[in-house]
Amino acid sequence: MAGLAAAARARELGAEPLVLEKGDRAGGSMLLSSCVIWRYRSLEAFQEECPGGDPRLQRVIVDQLDAAIAWLESLGAPVVEHDTGNPRTTGKRFDPAGLTQALVRVIGDSSVRLSDRGQTPLQTANILCTGGFPVRLARERALLVRSNPWSEGDGLDFALARGGEIAGDLDEFYGRAMPALQDLEEADFVRLAQLYGKHAIVTAHDMSERFEGEPDWSETRLVQQIANWPDGLAWYTVHSSWLDLKIRDRTIREMIEAARAAGGVVEEHDAKISVLVRPGVTQTLGGIRIDEHARVVGAEDLYAAGADVGGISNGGWSSGLAAALVFGRIAAEQALS
Ligand SMILES: Cc1cc2nc3c(=O)[nH]c(=O)nc-3n(C[C@H](O)[C@H](O)[C@H](O)COP(=O)(O)OP(=O)(O)OC[C@H]3O[C@@H](n4cnc5c(N)ncnc54)[C@H](O)[C@@H]3O)c2cc1C
Repeated sequence: MAGLAAAARARELGAEPLVLEKGDRAGGSMLLSSCVIWRYRSLEAFQEECPGGDPRLQRVIVDQLDAAIAWLESLGAPVVEHDTGNPRTTGKRFDPAGLTQALVRVIGDSSVRLSDRGQTPLQTANILCTGGFPVRLARERALLVRSNPWSEGDGLDFALARGGEIAGDLDEFYGRAMPALQDLEEADFVRLAQLYGKHAIVTAHDMSERFEGEPDWSETRLVQQIANWPDGLAWYTVHSSWLDLKIRDRTIREMIEAARAAGGVVEEHDAKISVLVRPGVTQTLGGIRIDEHARVVGAEDLYAAGADVGGISNGGWSSGLAAALVFGRIAAEQALS
C-alpha cells in the first residue's frame, strides 16, 4: 500500500516514479486485507489505545487521513462502506483490488516492475516500503504467516545498515487467532479468523496459563500473549449459550464451524466448545524510526512508510493501511521537495 501511494503521489507531482516489487503482483498485504482504512477519532484516543506509539506520528495520521482517503476516492478507488461500524474509529472500507488498480493506473503499468526472482535492488530505492517483517517473525517464533509472503524485513535491514534507528518493540505484532493448522492459505486469512477471544475462556494448550482480564477491543494484546505461551498455542473455550452471538458479520458458531471444516482441532464437552488456536502474524509493529516527514532518523536521504516503520501502533493496534497511505504520500512529497 505505502509504495503504491507514494508512487501515485509522486506521479501526480510530475515525477517519474519506479515501484520495485519483490513479489509477483502489486498490492502487498493490502490486496489481501479487509481494506478498512481508519483512524481513532482524536489524538488523545489514539494515545490511549496505542500508548507505545509516538504521538508526533499519530498526530499526522489523525490530521491527514481524511484528506488522504478523499484523494483515493478522487483517483477512482471504489468505496464499499462509508463508515467502519466501530464507534471508536472513523474511516472507509475500499475494495482492495479496485484500490490497487486505481493506484497502478495513476503510476502507470510500466512503472510497477514485478520481480520474478524474489529479489529487488533496494540500493536504488529512496522510499522504503517493504511491509515490515511478518514472514520472518512468524518463522522465528513458529507462528502462522497471515500477510503477503514477501515481507521479510528487507527494508528494515537496509535502513539499519545505512545508520537508521529502530522504533518500537520488534517483538510486537498485530495478528489474529487462527485455527492451529500447519499453514494458512491467503483465502483463509479473513474467513478463518477466530474473533471471539473476549467471549471465551482463553488458556494455554497445556493449561499452564490462563488469560485474565478483559482483552483489548482488537484482541491484539491477547494474540500477542498467546504467542508467548508454550508452543504458541491456546484453547478458546466458549459456552454453547454464546454460539449465536454475532461479531461483525459472523456468529461465533460460524467461526468455529469454519475452523472445524478447515481441519482445525475443535472439542466439545459439558455444553462448552473449545478451538485450538495459534496467532497468525499480520503486521509487525516495531521497525524503522521516522520523523513526521517520513525521513528515516539516522540515515541521509532515505524515507520509509507503511509497516517498515515502527513506533506508531505500539501497545495496541491502529490501521496499518492508514499509516501506509498517509506516510507514503508524505514520503513522496518530501523526497521531491
Ligand atoms: C487478512 C488481512 C486483513 C487486513 N485488514 C486490514 C484492515 O481492514 N485495515 C487495515 O488498516 N489494515 C489491514 N490489514 C493490514 C494491512 O494490509 C497492512 O497494514 C498494510 O498492507 C501495510 O502496508 P505496507 O505498504 O507497509 O505493506 P504491504 O501492503 O504488504 O506492501 C509491502 C510490499 O512490499 C513488497 N516487498 C517486500 N520486500 C520487498 C523488497 N525487498 N523489495 C521490493 N518489494 C518488497 C511486498 O511484496 C509487498 O508488495 C490486513 C492485513 C491482512 C493480511
